[in-house]
Amino acid sequence: MTLLHDLPNPQRRAIDLVKEVSMEKDVRPFLVGGPVRDMLLGRPAIDIDLTVEDNASTLARAIAKRIEGRVRSFPQFMTYKVTASEFPEIDITTARKERYRKPGALPLVTEGRLKDDLLRRDFSINAIALDLLRGTMHDPAHGERDLDARVVRVLHDKSFADDPTRIFRAVRLAARLGFALEDHTAELMREAIEADALATVTKERLWREVFLAMDEPFAPAILTSLCEHGALRVLFGRRACSESSARLETIHAQLAANPELDRHVLYTGALLRGDASPVDFEGSGFSQKRARAVVEIANELPRVEEALRAAGDDRERFRIYRGVSPEMLIVLGSEVPDELTHIRRYRDFENFRLPLRGNDLEVPGGPHVAQALEQTRAAVFNGEITPEEARSYAKKVARALMEQAS
Ligand code: ATP
Ligand code: MG
Repeated sequence: MTLLHDLPNPQRRAIDLVKEVSMEKDVRPFLVGGPVRDMLLGRPAIDIDLTVEDNASTLARAIAKRIEGRVRSFPQFMTYKVTASEFPEIDITTARKERYRKPGALPLVTEGRLKDDLLRRDFSINAIALDLLRGTMHDPAHGERDLDARVVRVLHDKSFADDPTRIFRAVRLAARLGFALEDHTAELMREAIEADALATVTKERLWREVFLAMDEPFAPAILTSLCEHGALRVLFGRRACSESSARLETIHAQLAANPELDRHVLYTGALLRGDASPVDFEGSGFSQKRARAVVEIANELPRVEEALRAAGDDRERFRIYRGVSPEMLIVLGSEVPDELTHIRRYRDFENFRLPLRGNDLEVPGGPHVAQALEQTRAAVFNGEITPEEARSYAKKVARALMEQAS
């Protein structure tokens, strides 16, 4: 089948192996959900998500054996994960029915047929299965039609009430694919948010969705859309998101240049600008340190700006920079006019090294050694002395410090 031929090599090898082992073991595997959607859209770097009606564990173990991999099983989800080095991860689940006894709670899961499994899913475009052995599509919710129309559509009117995390998923998926919410789906989503459906979901699950949004390439658009729909009110109340769109875009650009920064901290700080408090982070799993960094970004920009205006020289200014998180420094650099030049200089200073060590000073050990080296580093960086003078300068400073202390 042409679609499968277009896959990148690792995925194609994985699919070929699945087919081979399935024939041997007389199992009928379906590729389902995200991978089928992405393949049909010509986005071929797919996850291997399989559903079978029977014998998930037989298939998982037989595949693992062939590639010397291991199987992890998650009995409560009837799921098996096969992993091996240099091979894509393969998820195999047993087709299931789901029943929501209470809105917002996790569903009751029982074994079902393929069609049950497809119709319990979130959106039509995620409810298509490809029979790997026969090459046929199963599309009971007309997902292919919606892929053509480029819309995200829920499968029934109670979908968002049953599982309100689908509100986040809908916005995320639409932004990622450049799709629209189908009109009736958009209406149902508005109604669910108005009716406070999200309040039935645990804070932990809501934060998980927020973080998934922040991890997307189009995070600012997704977060802005969630804000506009009122979907973040359940976590942050009415104050969140005010005029946050430009700030989110700025952070997006900064993250592209500095991927090591804490994106969850930065985005949360931008959303809560002006009024964050540690109680906002219940369920987020933020450590105290990260929570403090968020509050700093959200609340303390004016205070830090004020302190920087009052700073007389580089020493004071650099001391202030050293006292804030790296994320806050990025916000300062991108939001406060003129600060960027100073911050660049600070970074250069932080990275500036002298080829001089404590032993070179020929004085007894103690705190004065590190202090002298640091003062010398600053003096060379600032051009007060030349690098050649560094060693004798450092010795002099160390001796003076020792005398002061005695
Ligand atoms: P990606 O992994 O690329 O973000 P995906 O569609 O594979 O997209 P997953 O979160 O991996 O998304 O979920 C796999 C599949 O499980 C989805 O395609 C969808 O069919 C189903 N699914 C996931 N979450 C839900 C949910 N809350 N309600 C119903 N079905 C869901
Ligand atoms: Mg997936």
